[in-house]
Amino acid sequence: MIPFNKPYLTGKETLYIGDAVKTGKISGNGKYTQKCQQWFEETYGFKKVLLTTSCTDALEMCAILANIKEGDEVIVPSFTFVSTAIAFVRQCAKIVFADSYSDNPNIDVDKIEALITNKTKAIVPVHYAGVACDMDKIMELATKYNLLVIEDAAQAIDSFYTGKDGIKRALGSIGHLAAFSFHETKNIIAGEGGMLTINDEQFIHRAEIIWEKGTNRAEFFRGEVNKYGWVDTGSSFLPSEIIAAFLWAQIENLEPIQNQRKLLWQTYYNALSAQNALNIQLPKIPPYATNNGHMFYVVLQSIEHRTAFIARLKENGFHAVFHYLSLHASDFYKEKHDGRALPNSDKFSDCLVRLPLFYELENEAIDKIITIINSVNLLA
Ligand SMILES: *Cc1c(COP(=O)(O)O)cnc(C)c1O
Repeated sequence: MIPFNKPYLTGKETLYIGDAVKTGKISGNGKYTQKCQQWFEETYGFKKVLLTTSCTDALEMCAILANIKEGDEVIVPSFTFVSTAIAFVRQCAKIVFADSYSDNPNIDVDKIEALITNKTKAIVPVHYAGVACDMDKIMELATKYNLLVIEDAAQAIDSFYTGKDGIKRALGSIGHLAAFSFHETKNIIAGEGGMLTINDEQFIHRAEIIWEKGTNRAEFFRGEVNKYGWVDTGSSFLPSEIIAAFLWAQIENLEPIQNQRKLLWQTYYNALSAQNALNIQLPKIPPYATNNGHMFYVVLQSIEHRTAFIARLKENGFHAVFHYLSLHASDFYKEKHDGRALPNSDKFSDCLVRLPLFYELENEAIDKIITIINSVNLLA
């Protein structure tokens, strides 16, 4: 069976973990944590980076930093992972779900303004498959209504947005805050891991405190205060050096990993777009966005087509998977949702299927998958 995902190891992970262990400093915020954070800041222009134990944790930090309280409203796409919403639900926010575009799972920015009320505090765009949301429009709304923008950039490492000013900016560097994931299903990995990026300086000081269990420990270790204590809320959001050491090995190989993933993505895309008779929708990369090779998906005509397609791939030894179930229709939130229909989100829930894409995937496997797609279509 060709799996849907296979975590790629560069070979240096255990070497750096061994080094971290030998130095005797394996708790958080040591040499490897600082190397990773500095690399991300310098490479992508984030003002401040804090590694976290997951993207979910980074989103929880965002919800605390945004001072989200009971009664506040947060606008979130419905077609996303649970974490995008749950981080704000834990702060007792009301989630106002937004629909996707019909031809792109990202949040439809033209439908956001109608959802804004005087209780709205934040918009959380998700860069699905690492493809940028239309950030200019989102930032304009944020300025107009004094809202925070928190990018769920879990899938968006090394992907960019070119705004109206013509400047190409890394995803995660545009909103006030952003969250990335290094879960083993993402492009670069640490098993479980993530990071918070802070682009609005007013949040930096408090973020370090929340990160370190509500203490000013980070300042103390920099020699800025002569004792440290409990000064705010927080949790243990920082990962150990063992995780940061693993991540450093991945960072060192980011370029070959990205090149290979983009090559595989393009192989799928070229083969499928050449067959314009097929009744499937291919990923859309708007002119303002880049592709980071995170995911290759196709959208079929119905859930029945998709079920048959996934079964056919399985019979032939390939594991393909569907993705999110609309959050507004979830067991946990459907009673709390305001009842609006979100048809595009539901369509992607029913019809989108993700194909195998990982560093070691062979071209022949892609060729076979393309052949199967053609045969399924002929039968449909
Ligand atoms: C993977 C993912 C997350 C969660 O990341 P973790 O690091 O597992 O917490 C959140 N949002 C999106 C869009 C994701 O793809």
